[in-house]
Amino acid sequence: MGDGPYHPEGPAHVKALIVCATMFLLRELEASAIDVADITVSETSVALWKAKGCTRSWTCVCDTDLPCPFHVLTERVESLRCFWHDRGEPLEPDSPLFPCSGGPYCSKRGVVATLRTAIDNAGSASKAKDGSWVVSGHSFRITAARTLTCHGLDPITIQLIGRWGSDAVLTYIAESPLQGLLTASRGTSRCFEHCWKNLIRQMAEQKKEQEVLKRLV
Ligand SMILES: [Zn+2]
Repeated sequence: MGDGPYHPEGPAHVKALIVCATMFLLRELEASAIDVADITVSETSVALWKAKGCTRSWTCVCDTDLPCPFHVLTERVESLRCFWHDRGEPLEPDSPLFPCSGGPYCSKRGVVATLRTAIDNAGSASKAKDGSWVVSGHSFRITAARTLTCHGLDPITIQLIGRWGSDAVLTYIAESPLQGLLTASRGTSRCFEHCWKNLIRQMAEQKKEQEVLKRLV
């Protein structure tokens, strides 16, 4: 089974959901509602149809320090297919890609609680010193915008793939190019666990974005 759940309404496959939500710049509710049919896997890419009729796709990025959505989602779909095959049933297209351990869709609350526990489990802090949470349901999108900026994607492209209707995205990626000079490791192949911890660390460093997050769509 998965590496979770961390919450009764959270996904059983924690890392897969967080990687998918981040790399496809999803809100927590969008991530929780992904159906098997929303994902199209080919030999070289994985595409997600979600939110406002948009389709976004990734090829393998295992030669970077990004967690690879192509391989994570290929494994997720294959694992679901095996799960149902073992029970003599086909994989239904309208079944959740990231179900709770009991089978139904996870909730918005369960996804956010899961992200906070993942941050704590990875050795970062999900709460600031004043007791407030450092991440919210929008944190997947914020982390993605900052991370992709560090990897050389321009702000306009990030705005397009993130489906932002305004230039609010510019506000919180403003610091990323400088940070990127220090942290980006393009062309450097890293193991999944390294990429995972890197992603979670960046999630936990978003406290200063909270006021900006509140103004987002
Ligand atoms: Zn890969």
